[in-house]
Amino acid sequence: MLFCRSYVARVPRIFRARFVSTLTFIETTADGKISPSTFNNLAAAKRISNSNTALILGSNASKVAEQFNNLGSSLGLEKILILENAKLDHSLPEYVAPILKNVLETGKFTHFIMQNSNVGKNILPRLGALMNCQPISDVVDIQDPKTFKRPMYAGNILATVVSEQKINLLSVRSSSFKSIDVNNDGTPSEKITIETIPYNDGDSKAVTIEWEFADLMDNTGRPDLVSAKNVISGGIALKDKTTFDELLEPLADALNAGIGGTRAAVDSGLCDNSLQIGQTGKIIAPDLYIAIGISGAIQHLAGMKNAKTVVAINKDADAPIFKASDYGLKGDLFEIVPQLTAKLREM
Ligand code: FAD
Repeated sequence: MLFCRSYVARVPRIFRARFVSTLTFIETTADGKISPSTFNNLAAAKRISNSNTALILGSNASKVAEQFNNLGSSLGLEKILILENAKLDHSLPEYVAPILKNVLETGKFTHFIMQNSNVGKNILPRLGALMNCQPISDVVDIQDPKTFKRPMYAGNILATVVSEQKINLLSVRSSSFKSIDVNNDGTPSEKITIETIPYNDGDSKAVTIEWEFADLMDNTGRPDLVSAKNVISGGIALKDKTTFDELLEPLADALNAGIGGTRAAVDSGLCDNSLQIGQTGKIIAPDLYIAIGISGAIQHLAGMKNAKTVVAINKDADAPIFKASDYGLKGDLFEIVPQLTAKLREM
């Protein structure tokens, strides 16, 4: 791997648990569906143990739990814990962390798993502080229930962390774990036990006044950026939002791809912040990544260098992105992208 060096960090405290059992936090989409990355996170849980439980919070919790029950036994879940309460809909850490603390202090779980998403990044540190426990974030590989790999310094170092904590609070990089192959063939399978847990937000003083949602680019029907097999991504060279959308959307449609962008593109208003790929954005590992008008700054590479095949379109033959690419097209993106889209449509 490009910048890989490894060292071992030790997290103190003695690992006394006699069993290994995981609890995975399930994120849901705004319309109450299971977030696609869930199946990658459950794959991570399966790497740790065969005794796995899921936790679903929010007003749609039982509906989401039923979706799991329709998916078959391949999920490897023994139980689903739910808590239906509208206060938990937006995963506010002030409400959620005390509830998680209560569940984890029952001693039934040795590992708590969240996605290394905004939700995970928001909740896990607060939970760690409440439980006096060191979270292990952005886990990309699990060697055994105590040994985890995680990148540091924008991916320049891959640290091997050996944890001897009684409870391991993990956030996992979903794209590093191959999704569970869900048996959704309609074959009846054993129902998973669903159990309701009590509400106790630790008397939080936080009050939600209003939620205002960003006016996101219309991604209707587009694959989720983190779990998409194909991703095309645009840089500041795309000039403005209209050009960004008009050039990239048809290409994304032709490839059934997710759309991402660089920080420069985000900062200049070409695309929404939720599309940013890189060190301070999303970290992805699709099968195909097409970088369009992107220079290949190290902070951008940190978000996409694990893509299986990288294609770069850039007019500058010396652009660093070409060094990180399997295929390079040197030329003007305003000519190449429409031609590429037209060819793909013919196929
Ligand atoms: P540029 O670097 O300006 O590159 C534009 C490219 O387009 C050039 O290579 C140019 O040759 C090419 N081009 C121009 N016109 C055409 C054309 N007509 N046809 C073809 N090619 C053309 N960046 C991220 O992306 N993600 C992050 O998460 C991130 N985090 C950061 C965190 C920190 C702390 C810092 C300091 C920076 C971070 N950055 C991040 C910013 C990063 O350093 C770069 O500035 C950014 O990635 C550059 O974006 P770009 O490639 O769109 O723009």
